[in-house]
Amino acid sequence: MSEVSPHKSVTEEPSLILPADPRASWLAHGEAIAAAIDRVRESGRYILGPEVEAFEREWAAYAGCGFCVGVANGTDALELALRAAGVGAGDVVLTAANTVTATIAAIDRVGATIALGDIDPANFTLSVPALTDWLQSADAPAVRAIVPVHLYGQPADMPALSALAREHGFLIVEDCAQAHGAQVGNRKAGEWGIAGAFSFYPTKNLGALGDGGAVVTNDPDLAARVRSLRQYGWRERYVAFEPGFNSRLDELQAAVLRVKLAALDEENARRAAIAARYRAELSGVENLTLPQEVAGSETVWHQFVVRHPDRAALQRHLEQQRVIAGVLYPEPVHEQPAYRERVLKPPAGLGEAERACRELLCLPVHPHLGDDDVSRVVGAVRSFGG
Ligand SMILES: *Cc1c(COP(=O)(O)O)cnc(C)c1O
Repeated sequence: MSEVSPHKSVTEEPSLILPADPRASWLAHGEAIAAAIDRVRESGRYILGPEVEAFEREWAAYAGCGFCVGVANGTDALELALRAAGVGAGDVVLTAANTVTATIAAIDRVGATIALGDIDPANFTLSVPALTDWLQSADAPAVRAIVPVHLYGQPADMPALSALAREHGFLIVEDCAQAHGAQVGNRKAGEWGIAGAFSFYPTKNLGALGDGGAVVTNDPDLAARVRSLRQYGWRERYVAFEPGFNSRLDELQAAVLRVKLAALDEENARRAAIAARYRAELSGVENLTLPQEVAGSETVWHQFVVRHPDRAALQRHLEQQRVIAGVLYPEPVHEQPAYRERVLKPPAGLGEAERACRELLCLPVHPHLGDDDVSRVVGAVRSFGG
């Protein structure tokens, strides 16, 4: 008689594969981060001290810009960059209809009118042909600035948008919150516009242990104005030259970010390796559209976004196999309650953004996934629908 051990008959559940894992990121750099935190704690300098200064220098150099100003978060970075560029009430600011509403909140807070452009379905960023059509039409809005969003780590078509900006005389402020290290040609995201806004939210490619953000620019006057706006409008201590805000990057977060920055290229390379496996091993899966890398530009794979006509069923199937795939973002801006009555839309509509929101699904691509995790995701996707 053979006896089966009750322990052996219990099948162990496979671990949950998460779309992002900020704790794994902390564990990967735990000792160095702990040392950085100790250093700040001992220093007695907690606000706008040597860590913020050093991080600003290091991030400016990394982003290929002359200046960097640390601020409290990515939304503030966009708002302060727009304000410092002189954008405000009465201006029209155009961005992509599929962005996260943080972009919209920043435009709204400067008092500008929000205009939305449709996207290129190949890379989920502003469609230059669609925007050109609108700007040339009889009812074109008088756009003062555009905010291209380098969504999912894929840069927007910056050479074409820059040409359009010159032709129509508008400014560009880049939303780089998902594009740390992405580039078009040999220029990084953030180097193309008059300013670039970064977020260091914990799940971003460069993430803090809390909130953080930065504005990068090559314009010394714009940098000085953001520096003033982030601290009560002071230009010298205690003397405000214009109404300002409190939007400072903490010393603690700056110290953590310096540790993480040293690993950013390596972590982006790991994301790219995972993406390469997905693209090779998921090619040919029926009804599944894989993300394309645009020639001449380098994505940093903040997300790996596939499209499927039955997105909800695929997402459920993956979840049953303990693979959590996210939907970033489920509704375009012009369909959300806060904004649907208050945004300018092109006469041709925003059909590509709407379709993308219905079909997209983000497969886990963070740098702390193991090769076996990636194999499990591949297997789970391939087993969908037979
Ligand atoms: C995260 C994000 C923001 C906002 O950053 P916060 O730091 O959360 O304020 C803005 N735009 C995009 C595209 C983002 O992904």
